[in-house]
Amino acid sequence: SPAIEAARSLIRTIPDYPKQGVQFRDITPLMADAQALRDCVEALIEPFSGRFDLVAGVEARGFLLAGSAAMVAGVGLAPLRKAGKLPRPAASVNYDLEYGTATIEASEDIIPGMRVLLLDDVLATGGTLAAGRALIEKMGAEVAGTAVLMELEGLGGRTLVPEVHALFSM
Ligand code: 5GP
Repeated sequence: SPAIEAARSLIRTIPDYPKQGVQFRDITPLMADAQALRDCVEALIEPFSGRFDLVAGVEARGFLLAGSAAMVAGVGLAPLRKAGKLPRPAASVNYDLEYGTATIEASEDIIPGMRVLLLDDVLATGGTLAAGRALIEKMGAEVAGTAVLMELEGLGGRTLVPEVHALFSM
């Protein structure tokens, strides 16, 4: 849609970050624009309307979207945090990064049976969102859906997370 195309045009591309040869897609200009932020948050949740009880955001940029989406949808939110940040994690999932591994953790506020909509800014290889989905399921909750602003092409994210709702790709 024109609104999402306008939001997409705000993405800032930073060459060679965080390392040589990588084109980092910086979403901060989109987040700073009131209209783009609203349009994107509404479009992220729209396919799942009335079918989720909680929004979960992946640290850290997913938190920004989850906060806005929860308010628009009229539900609460839960952070999926990097290891060691929650005072009393209830469950954790390990996943592979390009170099090494990472862990995300959830608090007990994700209740068994809850329908949880999982949000993040970017789908790259899919490892992060696959881990987020596994963590929600480990809590006994149901993944109502997975949505991102942007899917990075050619990194295979769809293979790990086939059902993701992406507003646009780059
Ligand atoms: P994945 O696990 O899918 O390989 O990587 C996705 C995670 O890395 C997301 O949490 C996302 O925030 C971050 N990420 C990877 N590449 C980019 C990028 O180009 N821009 C932004 N904003 N985040 C990225």
